[in-house]
Amino acid sequence: MAEIASLPTYADVEAAARRIEGAAHRTPVLTSRTADERTGARLFFKAENLQRAGAFKFRGALNAIRSLSPEQRTRGVVTFSSGNHAQSIAYAGRLEGVPTVIVMPKDAPALKMAATKGYGGEVLLYDRYTEDREAIGRRLSEERGLAIIPPFDHPDVIAGQGTATKELIEEVGPLDLLLVCLGGGGLLSGSALAAEALSPGCRVVGVEPEAGNDVQQSLAAGRIVTIPVPKSIADGALTPAPSARTFALIQRLVSEVVTVPDAGLVEAMRFFVERMKIVVEPTGCLAAAAAFGGAVPVSGRRVGVILSGGNVDPAALASFLTPKAGTP
Ligand SMILES: *Cc1c(COP(=O)(O)O)cnc(C)c1O
Repeated sequence: MAEIASLPTYADVEAAARRIEGAAHRTPVLTSRTADERTGARLFFKAENLQRAGAFKFRGALNAIRSLSPEQRTRGVVTFSSGNHAQSIAYAGRLEGVPTVIVMPKDAPALKMAATKGYGGEVLLYDRYTEDREAIGRRLSEERGLAIIPPFDHPDVIAGQGTATKELIEEVGPLDLLLVCLGGGGLLSGSALAAEALSPGCRVVGVEPEAGNDVQQSLAAGRIVTIPVPKSIADGALTPAPSARTFALIQRLVSEVVTVPDAGLVEAMRFFVERMKIVVEPTGCLAAAAAFGGAVPVSGRRVGVILSGGNVDPAALASFLTPKAGTP
């Protein structure tokens, strides 16, 4: 494997945990007798849907912003994101007094766009099917001297995301299996670093939307495979490819990547509302849907399940949960 500059380690996850302590929530770990009975497993849900700004992304964003030099803090940061990272950067920037510019797809969910602006981020829109968001971000970085904090391809972001699993294992003890929602792999690589250090032997499995299995394909090919921008209700996991950095960590630390169909995400969303009284966005249901739908065998195991976010428009949530005319 080629050496990749600045691959984070578990020591970086520990440093991130100290850096964000008191500002990021230590989210609860939820359990459900019904979920355990249905799966035959012992499931521990790490409720990052209850994190500040509504997703685990606040951890990585705050860690990255708190790691900036004083000069960088004054000039500000730029990022590109389909939503939760944008919101988290805008929010962390406001808390820390750092200006933020967010390059966002025109078709990002209305709630996420409004929240990003509400947190004080300057929003620039682009077309995700025809324009290159990274090029737009680089140009802004050069023109205005902004530090780029991408949604997953950054050591401080990865280390920050790993703190959720660190808290989970510290709270519930060793796990047999950890299921992690997977887009570009920042959450998965950070989680795998924490699991390797705190629960050796724990299988770590990434879960992608069926339509967007770029990491699964990449692992099978042994190199990064880029797919067309996927279409799925999992709007936080529509990445065409992992980065060299996240792919290197995933290759080394992750046992397997599985996929779930959108229908499984809807079923999981319904379960969380009906049974556990919590709102989990479609992307945030990826890991749980793999446990519920059998994409990964969980019976008889102690399983950590990351519920990665809870940002979904109420109207969209209602329509996901309303049976469509003509279906049984
Ligand atoms: C960003 C995001 C993911 C995917 O995280 P990656 O680090 O890109 O793999 C999963 N769930 C939610 C809710 C997200 O916002």
